[in-house]
Amino acid sequence: MSRKKKVIILGGGYGGIKALETLANNENIEVTLIDKNRYHYLQTESYNFIALNSSLNDIIIPLDTLVKGIDKNFCFIQDEVVNVTTHQVTCKEGEHPFDYLIIAVGVKTLLPSIFHNDHLFEVKNLSNALHLKHSFEDTIVKHLKKEKKNTNIVVVGGGSSGVEIAAEMQNYLLKSNLACEIQISLIADAFLGELDEHSRKKALQTLQNSGIRIVQKMVQKVEPNCLYLEDEVIEFDFGVVAIGLEASEFIKNLDFAKEKHLLKVDEYLRAEEHIFAIGDCAFLKDKTGKPLSQTAQTAEQSGVIAAKNILRAIQEKPLIKANIKIYGLAIALGGKFAIATASFVKVDGILGYLGKKAIEQFYKIPLKLKL
Ligand SMILES: Cc1cc2nc3c(=O)[nH]c(=O)nc-3n(C[C@H](O)[C@H](O)[C@H](O)COP(=O)(O)OP(=O)(O)OC[C@H]3O[C@@H](n4cnc5c(N)ncnc54)[C@H](O)[C@@H]3O)c2cc1C
Repeated sequence: MSRKKKVIILGGGYGGIKALETLANNENIEVTLIDKNRYHYLQTESYNFIALNSSLNDIIIPLDTLVKGIDKNFCFIQDEVVNVTTHQVTCKEGEHPFDYLIIAVGVKTLLPSIFHNDHLFEVKNLSNALHLKHSFEDTIVKHLKKEKKNTNIVVVGGGSSGVEIAAEMQNYLLKSNLACEIQISLIADAFLGELDEHSRKKALQTLQNSGIRIVQKMVQKVEPNCLYLEDEVIEFDFGVVAIGLEASEFIKNLDFAKEKHLLKVDEYLRAEEHIFAIGDCAFLKDKTGKPLSQTAQTAEQSGVIAAKNILRAIQEKPLIKANIKIYGLAIALGGKFAIATASFVKVDGILGYLGKKAIEQFYKIPLKLKL
């Protein structure tokens, strides 16, 4: 009898978890997930957490329990991966040979040095989301204790992450009757580039109507508690930076081909003969060759394709070509408002909100049921 093939997945994010699910219940393989953290962080719901609408339990799923829930024979190792060669993964605490590998380690927030400041936080990892949540709470308490007269919160970044965080914090202030006293400014040179013109205008109008100050300018300089724009200085108590993404040092240092600093993959999502790369850390394209944006839905689809291709390679069947599609977009605009767009349907307001919540729950509930 031939020995079981060793499959390793690096990273238990949106892509890695889908790959694990696809590999489940297969007798010919043994699967190990390696992640530096012991939890799957639901980044797409972090806006709710920061704005005090949800608890830690809502945005993390323990990976050790989840992995066993997906397949009792699967194994989880908490360790940080530092290098990969053609048949071995090197972590800080050990080495792991593999027959097939899926790299799904995501990316990190692009944080130019001007934004290195004790009062500004990014949201890509859980510790920072926690800092942001505490800063938001602390700012409100200080304001209520009258320790501060003018309280200002800044959100730098006009993509969906920045918009969702600003909108949900503003919703909290509105509910607490503090929106007239605590000002949220959303600062970017452009907003919601992923939406069409009509939806973008509608979304910005909703944000403005809620009381968020939209500032379409570039940040030139940052000092403790002061943002310098072209012709204006904004004092702030704390701020969020969500301006873009870049490859992690681990990916940058890997000795594999890159495209725009991300792992270059072929049409089957292979970075090398037995090594697949998926999700944010891979330069993914649609079937026409157009680059795909780094989203949970592209990570999930690529995870399924890579896992299917590993099973096919083991069975000596031809691999399938990746045909990853963006099915739509849903952006929370605070409270029970959201904008959701799919190919022929656009909904906003409460319908958009219901669409957004449905997407979140549809992803999360099946995973929670596996615990
Ligand atoms: C605030 C915010 C809101 C978002 N909202 C949406 C949304 O509404 N819809 C949407 O589709 N997308 C959204 N995204 C994007 C989405 O979260 C990402 O595209 C998605 O997480 C990518 O999945 P991934 O599996 O590639 O990586 P990730 O989910 O980032 O997972 C990577 C995993 O790898 C692990 N890891 C990293 N480095 C190492 C290492 N060296 N060793 C071991 N483990 C490692 C990490 O701990 C992590 O568990 C949002 C992102 C943010 C930050």
